[in-house]
Amino acid sequence: MKPLDSLERVVEWLGPRDDFVIASHADPDGDSLGSSLALAMGLEQVGKRSTVVIGQPLPRRYRWLPGSSRVVSVERIPTDTRASILVECSEFGRSGVLGLDTLESLNIDHHTKNGMYAEVNWIDPSAAATGMMVRDLTDALGAEVTAPMATLLYVAVLTDTGSFHHSNTDARAMAFASDMLARGANASEIAEQVYGDYPAARIHLMGDALSSLKRMAAGRIAFMYLPFSAFERRGTRDTEAFVNHAQGIDGVQVSLLFKEVDPGVLRISLRSDGSVDVAEVASHHGGGGHPRAAGCQIEGAFEQVGDRLLNEVHEVLEEGIGG
Ligand code: 5GP
Ligand code: MN
Repeated sequence: MKPLDSLERVVEWLGPRDDFVIASHADPDGDSLGSSLALAMGLEQVGKRSTVVIGQPLPRRYRWLPGSSRVVSVERIPTDTRASILVECSEFGRSGVLGLDTLESLNIDHHTKNGMYAEVNWIDPSAAATGMMVRDLTDALGAEVTAPMATLLYVAVLTDTGSFHHSNTDARAMAFASDMLARGANASEIAEQVYGDYPAARIHLMGDALSSLKRMAAGRIAFMYLPFSAFERRGTRDTEAFVNHAQGIDGVQVSLLFKEVDPGVLRISLRSDGSVDVAEVASHHGGGGHPRAAGCQIEGAFEQVGDRLLNEVHEVLEEGIGG
C-alpha cells in the first residue's frame, strides 16, 4: 500500500499549481459539498482558481449553500483542466464525473476505505468530517475562514456527525463546530435549511421505507426496501438518514436500507452499532465508507441480493468480528 501523505506534502503539491477542478462523490452530501466549496473559497483567497464539479444536479437541500452557484453539474471534466482535487472520494469512479483520472490529482478524505489513487493522498480517518481537514489546509495556505466558509464547514461537521449523534462526535468535532459558529455560522438557521425544509414527497417516501421494515436474527438486524416504483411514484430520491430509523430500534445492531435506484440496481446503506465493520462488508461489494456507516451498489433483484447480503451480515455478526 502507498504511504499516506502529510499536510505539508499537500501544501507543497498545491504550491506551483493554480487551476483546479474540485470533485467529490456521487450523491453528494453536506460534507462533500461543504468541503468542496470551502476549499474553492480558500484557494481563491490565495490566488488559485477552481471549479467545483458534480456528476448530477445539486441536491435540493444544499442549493442554499454559500457559493453553490460555483457548482457545475457535468458528465466529464472540462478539457482545459490541468489538476484535480478529490474530496471525500474513495476512488475516481465514485466521483461520478469522467476524466478526473487523466489529471495530476490530490486526494483528501477521512474514510477508512480509500483507494489511494492520486499522486498525493492525504487521508485522516480521525477527522469527523473532511471539512475539518479542509480547514487545516486553508489555514496552512494562509487563508482566513470567512463567514461563508464557516457556514460550509459547519454544514460538513453537522451532517457527517448525524447532527452530533454519531460516534465521531468527539471533543475535536465539537470544538470545530464551536469555532465555526464564532466565525459566523448560524446553527439554527443551518439546521432549518438542512433538516427543516423537506418536500412532502420525502416524508411519503420515508413512510414507504418504514412500512417495509423487517427484523431478523432475533431483532439484531433490521432492514427496509424501497423498490424503483416507490421512487417513481413519490418523485424524489432523497433517502438521507432513513436507515437511522431502523438502526434506532431497541436491540438492533446492524441495519440496512435497500434502494432500487434503477430497475435491477440496488444501492445499499448500512449502519452498525460497532459490532460489525460495515465498511468492510460494503468493500466486498465494491463499496466503502466508515466502520459504522457504509454503502455499496449491487446489481440484481432485491429478493436475491437482499438475502445474500443479509446472510453475510448475519454471519459476521455471529462471528463477532470486524468491529
Ligand atoms: P450512505 O448510506 O449515507 O449513502 O453512505 C454512508 C457512508 O458510506 C458515507 O460515508 C458514504 O460516503 C459511504 N458510501 C456510500 N456508498 C458508497 C460506495 O458505493 N462506495 C464508497 N467507497 N463509499 C460509499
Ligand atoms: Mn465525510
